[in-house]
Amino acid sequence: MKYLSTRQGAPAAGFSTAMDHGLAPDGGLYVPEAFPVFSMHHFAAEFSLPELAERLLSPYLEGDPLQAHLKKICKAAFDFEIVLKNLKNQTALLELFHGPTAAFKDIGARFLAECLSRLPVSGARDRLVLVATSGDTGGAVAAAFHRRPGFEVAILFPKGKISPRQQQQLTCWGENIRAYAVAGNFDDCQRLVKAAFADKTLRARRPLLSANSINIGRLLPQQVYYAWAALAYRRQFHQNAGFVVPTGNLGNAVASLWTQRIGFPIASVALATNANQSILDYFRTGEWQPKETVSTLANAMDVGNPSNMERLIHLYPNLKDLKRDVRVFSVSDREISQTIELGPSEYNEVWCPHTATAVAARKQLASPQWVIVATASPAKFDTIVEPLIGRKVAIPPALAALLTRASNVIEISSEVGELEKIIG
Ligand SMILES: *Cc1c(COP(=O)(O)O)cnc(C)c1O
Repeated sequence: MKYLSTRQGAPAAGFSTAMDHGLAPDGGLYVPEAFPVFSMHHFAAEFSLPELAERLLSPYLEGDPLQAHLKKICKAAFDFEIVLKNLKNQTALLELFHGPTAAFKDIGARFLAECLSRLPVSGARDRLVLVATSGDTGGAVAAAFHRRPGFEVAILFPKGKISPRQQQQLTCWGENIRAYAVAGNFDDCQRLVKAAFADKTLRARRPLLSANSINIGRLLPQQVYYAWAALAYRRQFHQNAGFVVPTGNLGNAVASLWTQRIGFPIASVALATNANQSILDYFRTGEWQPKETVSTLANAMDVGNPSNMERLIHLYPNLKDLKRDVRVFSVSDREISQTIELGPSEYNEVWCPHTATAVAARKQLASPQWVIVATASPAKFDTIVEPLIGRKVAIPPALAALLTRASNVIEISSEVGELEKIIG
């Protein structure tokens, strides 16, 4: 399997190379040159997550040196629970937050770390994983790389724009992990990371790796839980489910659409966004116009210029086809709050603000067969959630362990010059 750039100006690359580059040399994003096609009768039996992961991902790694390690990689990356539970009628909930940092990004980050640590090393200096985060990516990447020999991690997050517990998860590691509070928003953080990758002089100093969802190594494994949940839903209800996906940078959403494309039983996909409306406007006008980021309660989705938009357009070059398969909803902070407030009485659930956008979008969808994707534990957003529901949220044990560690932050401006310090 080869990977091509969405901008068609870079040579085809194997999986390892595409993962190592992060962004393609022409500034585009890597996409598979052709999608594998699976026939569902091979998936009639029930598989464990690591088994399903190995089967699904094998064609994507075909011909790559890492293919020989895929079984071990999947076993190590998919070692925590993913839960599909029935909510009401035929609406189900896919809980992706039972990993070490209590958000779905643990899955992609762990797979990426397992893959990268099996690549041959060149040069004497440690590889630097450079990551911009709107809240959850940084923690997941830090957890996945903490104490991994040969790697350092630099996390850039927007100062004052993430929840205290999210911040703790970025800043509590020490050793090979550094966290930078950038005076700016998430798009500023992302701009700095992109500038570093585009700068040949900086890149010559030490090997840089990206761990944002632009990295193909994070996106591919996210298909696994969609495939697993789609199959489990079908076994139970004898119908295909649609997925309602809380959406920011569009990584999770693109993964769901790729899973549908390769043959898994997904009826359709609904994107739940917050007040950041660039995706909604694209659906309305057909013009792609990135916007300034708006801060919302669902901060991990505060993205005005979603980096995976190019992959979405690559998958659906024609807006008409996109609108046939995918719907978009924009959910206001008011609706997020109301949904969280009603969660215990309506569903006997406590929602994180991101999951709440999907719950709110679900209410606007007609047919009953939907799986709401729950992307984070509400305990990460206690300062938002607890006042709304009027009680404490239980803290998952993994999160509790991180909250007691000492924290360390380095403050920087949003000027490109800061990259000198970060890369060293
Ligand atoms: C990152 C994140 C999202 C958005 O996912 P994308 O892949 O960027 O669209 C949604 N919810 C939570 C909790 C997140 O951390």
